[in-house]
Amino acid sequence: MTWDFVHETLPQRVRFATGRAAVATAEEVERLGARRVMLVAGPAEAALAERVASGVPVAHVHDEVVMHVPVAVAERARAAAADHEVDAVLAVGGGSTTGLAKAVALTSGLPVVAVPTTYAGSEATDVWGLTEAGRKTTGTDPRVLPRAVVYDASLTTSLPVGLSVASGLNAVAHCVDSLWGPRADPVDAALAEEGLRALATGLPEVVADPEGLAGREQALYGAHLAAVAFASAGSGLHHKVCHVLGGRHDLPHAETHAVVLPHVAGLNLPAAPGAAARVARALGRGGAAEALDGLFALGERLGAPRALRDLGLAEDDLRGAAEAVAAVVPPGNPVDVTVDDLERMLRDAWAGTDPREAVHTAPPTTTGATR
Ligand code: NAD
Repeated sequence: MTWDFVHETLPQRVRFATGRAAVATAEEVERLGARRVMLVAGPAEAALAERVASGVPVAHVHDEVVMHVPVAVAERARAAAADHEVDAVLAVGGGSTTGLAKAVALTSGLPVVAVPTTYAGSEATDVWGLTEAGRKTTGTDPRVLPRAVVYDASLTTSLPVGLSVASGLNAVAHCVDSLWGPRADPVDAALAEEGLRALATGLPEVVADPEGLAGREQALYGAHLAAVAFASAGSGLHHKVCHVLGGRHDLPHAETHAVVLPHVAGLNLPAAPGAAARVARALGRGGAAEALDGLFALGERLGAPRALRDLGLAEDDLRGAAEAVAAVVPPGNPVDVTVDDLERMLRDAWAGTDPREAVHTAPPTTTGATR
């Protein structure tokens, strides 16, 4: 089949400045001409954020950061931005912090500078998310894309190993889902493969030497590529599953990704030889048939969480979750999946069984041209 695709590259300055976040951030804020900046950082990251913002004209520090950005929390941040007449927002923290800055930008159009301290990757996407009454709403808007990102691996050495692994596997999931997301294209696939390679190199180094900068740099670089690919490709089946589990059952974001990924991969990879070849190559494996083994082995090597039941999901919830996922399976997923297929896959993820031993019967779709 001949190629026919459009790849859109999001406009953003991306800066890697290991050990130099304060100088780089001050320069990025200066470039925007900002004079009154709202610094968004949770209480746990307060000291770190203060250092990063030491050369920035901060007019207000906003520290009410809550996972998944509840609407009421966003409203208070927006009101604070207006009250303090800020002209830019500086986010220093993980995906929850970046998410709050995006919520402010969504209604105000204020420019955001993001200094990420996890591997979530929100800083490189134009996706926003808000929750109200347990329901998460997401959307895309060019206003929420941070104008500049400063990556400084030294800011991530304080991220505990368990969180680093879960967050890193969240980035791995961005790479893998970018290979079969609804808008996946060959450019995304190239970014995803290099992102996966960097993450698979960096994360074991982070586990072995959490204070070391080389592994942290590779992991941040991989997380960035992962998010760029993901922003372009859109949510694939894996993210739809995690979205349902996070939204309906309030499971922790990064850990849920870590558990679910090999199970969705087990379902999709056999019907997506192009994706499997890229995963295998990125993980230094011989061929497509070894992709799932490589992914699973990476999680094992990192000591990743394995079972949804350990994250608080009840067995009684599996059918309902499968039905909810079935309603949102992305177009072009490499296999056609039924509620029963999804329930079987979720049950395996819930029990923490080895995904390499799962028997999947879902037939391939006929639309996966680039996969
Ligand atoms: P998070 O931002 O909630 O951070 C997790 C924990 O890590 C927090 O307790 C935080 O205080 C701590 N932490 C962060 N950096 C630290 C550091 N350097 N040292 C020590 N502790 C540190 O979690 P997350 O996984 O980064 O982000 C998850 C959120 O981001 C979710 O709401 C998810 O939906 C969102 N997200 C959005 C996108 C997007 O494109 N919009 C992409 C990925 C994730």
